[in-house]
Amino acid sequence: MTALMSDDRLLIDGKLVPASDGGTYENINPATEQVIGVAADATADDVNAAVAAARRAFDETDWSTNHAFRAKCLRQLQAALLKHADEWRQTIVAEVGAPILLTHSAQFDVPVAGVEFAANLAETYQYRQELGVADTVAGKSNRFVLREPVGVVAAIVPWNFPIQIQLAKSAPALAAGCTVVLKGAPATPWSASVLGRLVAEETDIPAGVFNVLTSSRNEVGQALVEHPDVDMVSFTGSTETGKKIMVAAAPTLKKVFLELGGKSASIVLDDADMGVAAMVSAFNITAHSGQGCAIQSRAIVPRGKVDEFVEQVGAMLAGIKQGDPTDPSVMVGPLCSEAQRQRVLGYIQSARDEGGTIAIGGGVPADLPVGYYVEPTVITGLAPDAKAVREEIFGPVLVVQEHDGDDHAIALANDSIYGLSGGVLSADNERAHRVAAKLRTGTVSVNGGMWYGADVPFGGYKQSGIGRESGVQGFEEYLELKAVAEGVTE
Ligand code: NAD
Repeated sequence: MTALMSDDRLLIDGKLVPASDGGTYENINPATEQVIGVAADATADDVNAAVAAARRAFDETDWSTNHAFRAKCLRQLQAALLKHADEWRQTIVAEVGAPILLTHSAQFDVPVAGVEFAANLAETYQYRQELGVADTVAGKSNRFVLREPVGVVAAIVPWNFPIQIQLAKSAPALAAGCTVVLKGAPATPWSASVLGRLVAEETDIPAGVFNVLTSSRNEVGQALVEHPDVDMVSFTGSTETGKKIMVAAAPTLKKVFLELGGKSASIVLDDADMGVAAMVSAFNITAHSGQGCAIQSRAIVPRGKVDEFVEQVGAMLAGIKQGDPTDPSVMVGPLCSEAQRQRVLGYIQSARDEGGTIAIGGGVPADLPVGYYVEPTVITGLAPDAKAVREEIFGPVLVVQEHDGDDHAIALANDSIYGLSGGVLSADNERAHRVAAKLRTGTVSVNGGMWYGADVPFGGYKQSGIGRESGVQGFEEYLELKAVAEGVTE
C-alpha cells in the first residue's frame, strides 16, 4: 500500500517548524475511527510569525511584480503535486474519508490541473489598461489603470474538499502576486501541512510567500482575521462562521471574500425524465456523502409525482456502493467526523419530529458499525419552514418538495437564505432556461450540465457568499485597482 503523506510541522518563513509550544493534536481516519498521526497545533505566536513572514515577503521581495517567476513557481508546485499523486490520494482518503474515486475528480485531479490555469494568468493577464489622454480639471492627463496584488492573504478552509479549496484560493492568490498564510481545517491538517512541505522542498517559492498553519482551534483563524497586517481574508466555510469573519474583519476594514453554505434545489419540471431526475438527486447526495456546499440537496418535483420519484431514487441508490473509501468501487464513504454524523442524524430526527416521512434510509447502516457512516436518506412530506428544508445538512440527505407548476417551483427554490447553486430538468431546453434565469443562485445546471472547472467563476448570491472563486474573476479577487494619471505638458 502507498504510504500516507503526513507532516506534523508548520511552514513559516520558508522553514518547516513545530508549533511554538511544541503542541500537536490527533488526526483521525473517519472510516476506521483510528488515530493516523498528529499535526502541529499552531499558537498565537505562530500566527504572528507567519503573518510577519508573509508581510515581509510581500513588501521586500519582487514576488508581487515578477509575473514570469510566479508562473514558473506555480508550475513547479503543480509538478510536485502530480509527482506524489498516489500518496495524495491515500492521504485524502485517510483524513477526509472521501472515496478514492473522487480523488480522480474534484478531490485532487481537477484542482491540481487548475493550478496551470492560475500559472497562465500570472504571465498573460493584462495588469495595465490604457484609458488614454483626456482634458481634466487639472489640464491634459494620460490615464491608465493598474491591477496590483491585494497584499497578504489569509486563506481559511473547511474539511470537505481540502486540497481543492486550498488550491482554489492559494493558486490565484499567488498568481496575482499576493503572499499567503493558509490555515487548514482542524479535521484535515495534513492536506495543508503536506502542501506546505511541497512548497518548501520542491518549488522556488521564496521564504515567506506561502505559509501554512494547522490547528485544532478556530481561534487561530480568528486571530488571522483580526491581524492588522493581513490585507484580505479568503474564506470558505459555513455561513455562520462567515458572519463572524465579517465582524472580526470590520475593525481593520480588510477585504473579505466568502464562499459559504448552500441549500440548493434541483427543479424537476412536469415534462422532465424522472429517471434522469432521480439519477441527478442520487448522485448529489451520495458523492462524498453529500458533504458539498453546492450539492442539490432539495428536489422540487411535480405534485403527485413524489412516489414515482422516490421509487426511482431508491432504485439508483441500490446500485451505489457505500463503505470503505479505499475501495475504488465505493461511492459513499463516511462523514468526516463523529460530530458531523451526529449533526446529520439530528437533522433527520428533526424531520421526523416535524411530521416528515423518512422514505429511504434515515439511520446508521447496520453493516458498517465502524466509521462515521449515515445511510443515504430521502425525506418527504415536510412543510417549507421545516428545519431540514431550510438549513444546510451537509450529509447524504435529500429533502423532496412538491410544486404546482414552474412559478411555484421557482418560488420554492428561491425560498432560502442561501443562493449557491441549483438545477433545472425539462424536456424543453428553452423552458428550462426560462426557469434557470429566475433562480437567485451563483451557479445553475440546466439539464444535467456541469459548471465546475478552473475557468468558471463559482460563488453565491445572498447568504452563500461574497465574491467568486476560480475563473478570471476569481483571480481578480486578489487584485486591487490603482488609477494613475500623468500630466501631459504640451
Ligand atoms: P466552518 O465554518 O466550521 O469552518 C471553516 C474554517 O473556518 C475552518 O478552518 C475553521 O477552523 C475556521 N473557523 C471557524 N471559526 C472561525 C472564526 N471565528 N474565525 C476564523 N476562522 C474560523 O466550516 P466547516 O464545518 O469546516 O465546513 C463546512 C461548511 O463549509 C459548510 O457550511 C459548507 O457549505 C461550507 N463550504 C462552502 C464552500 C463554498 O465554496 N461555498 C465549499 C465547501 C464548504
